[in-house]
Amino acid sequence: MVVTGDDHQRLGENAEQWVTWKNNRAFMRMTSGHCAALKIQAGENGTQFVCSIYEQRPRTCRDLARGSPQCEADWEQKGPGNSRGIQITEI
Ligand code: SF4
Repeated sequence: MVVTGDDHQRLGENAEQWVTWKNNRAFMRMTSGHCAALKIQAGENGTQFVCSIYEQRPRTCRDLARGSPQCEADWEQKGPGNSRGIQITEI
């Protein structure tokens, strides 16, 4: 995911913890096949996926509102095996 200059500024002094560079373009760092800012934790209702930088998240993440038709379409594109039981929360 591209990190714009505004995104980088919003990430503040910890930006380089979350960003990786390819040539002169910034992207969110990936770890174990997902965004490094995604925290996976056990919750009362099962596994929860939490954005650990929710207030500072990049524009792309802000534009894809949870539960929006665009979000639903993205879920559908993931194909069989996507888990609608996943609960995404902010911390
Ligand atoms: S919402 Fe947070 S965890 Fe999810 S991709 Fe964006 S920055 Fe990463």
